[in-house]
Amino acid sequence: MSISQLMDQQKKYYHTGATRGLDFRLSQLKKLKQAIVERESAIIQALRTDLNKGEKEAYAFEIGIVYQEITHVIKHLKRWMKPKKVKSPMTHSGSRSYIIPEPLGAALIIAPWNYPFMLAFDPLVGAIAAGNTVVLKPSELAPAVSAVMTTLICATFEPQFIAVVEGGVEESRTLLEQPFDKIFFTGSVAVGKIVMEAASKRLTRVTLELGGKSPCIVHQDAHLKLAAQRIAFGKFSNAIQTCVAPDYLLVHRSVKDELLAYLQEAIQSFYGDKPLQSPDYGKIISRRHYERLHHFMNEGKVAIGGLADDRTLQIEPTVLEQITWDMPVMQEEIFGPILPVLTYDSIDEVVTMINARPKPLALYVFSEDKKVQDVLLERISFGGGCINDTLMHFGSTHLPVGGVGESGMGSYHGEMSFQIFSHMKSILKQTTKFDIPFRYPSSKFGLKIIRRLTKP
Ligand code: NAD
Repeated sequence: MSISQLMDQQKKYYHTGATRGLDFRLSQLKKLKQAIVERESAIIQALRTDLNKGEKEAYAFEIGIVYQEITHVIKHLKRWMKPKKVKSPMTHSGSRSYIIPEPLGAALIIAPWNYPFMLAFDPLVGAIAAGNTVVLKPSELAPAVSAVMTTLICATFEPQFIAVVEGGVEESRTLLEQPFDKIFFTGSVAVGKIVMEAASKRLTRVTLELGGKSPCIVHQDAHLKLAAQRIAFGKFSNAIQTCVAPDYLLVHRSVKDELLAYLQEAIQSFYGDKPLQSPDYGKIISRRHYERLHHFMNEGKVAIGGLADDRTLQIEPTVLEQITWDMPVMQEEIFGPILPVLTYDSIDEVVTMINARPKPLALYVFSEDKKVQDVLLERISFGGGCINDTLMHFGSTHLPVGGVGESGMGSYHGEMSFQIFSHMKSILKQTTKFDIPFRYPSSKFGLKIIRRLTKP
């Protein structure tokens, strides 16, 4: 079936109304969960093949997150779907007002390769919950996971409801030409712009989950040992390519050496003396990505790590010091196990440095001082983040995740996922028991009454 025939089928199916009812949505979410349960080991194996993800990371950060999301949605969907009553102003006497969430229609989800399962299925849960049909386009750079997801979807759903289109740029571009009602894209800023341009032709609603350089600030009063462990976890675990990983460190000059010593300790405790031989240490997704990262290792001075293996496409957890903003490693998102370190003397300096650049997707601050935490949260705009931790905000069904400015548009997870795949239809229901004549042109005192009811 061609992509445009698939589109036609989904549109027709959507217009039958089959996807709209609560029972249908709940049963499809349960079916999805069961299908994942049955293929858990195949998914884990595929994540190992594509990214050398260990079982713990594959479960905790891909499969487990999707289960959590499905369970949460099933529990709350009935309430979210209910029309929400709101007040009516005095000028609208006699009426009742409410907001009805309605599905948008046919949704397209384009996923990246770094969490190839979770970043495809998490938005899928939101799209089903909101009553849409879905076409899913996995990343061609994680072919094993793409194949497992295709098998799972084909065996569980009719293509008129949910289908997978595998492929790369060409397939993606063809999909972007179709009259979808919603596009949910996770990927790079550059491709995000292409997606938005394509969506603008039909004014299709988009959610863009993009990337960027996410800073991690370590203040002089931070609990340095814990900070080092949590930073090493955020930067080097999960196959070392996480969109919300700390991209670079901004460390108070007075604690830099101590922090680096703790970082070395943390890396060693996670991966031993030879991380490249650790069985669960991630690999870079492709040779092209590996080469790009390898070049960064010549910048500044290697403080920790520095080894790479061009046969396995692995790079050790590497920390670089003597880094300046004009170096290439500070000009683009790193997206790999290389952590440049810059120092600062005052929090004002930190604010100025970060605000001079595009708004980050995530920001992390390690400090025991609430004032320092508050100043950074208030004065810097970023997608989301943690105080005294890294990454963990992403895995909560209660916290919407998304970027701002160049790091993205729109947030999802939990109820927000339901909302971004829905249209909130506003309805005013007027009584016919009486009328309010002051609004009519014939009303003599109309203006006077309106002025009184809306006076400043
Ligand atoms: P990418 O933008 O290269 O690819 C993402 C998807 O877009 C893939 O499915 C790909 O096939 C498709 N695509 C690629 N080029 C295209 C084009 N020219 N036209 C249409 N479609 C195209 O991103 P990636 O390399 O897969 O992922 C890495 C990026 O994603 C990083 O920037 C990372 O920060 C970001 N990311 C963001 C989040 C988030 O939640 N905000 C999560 C993961 C990754």
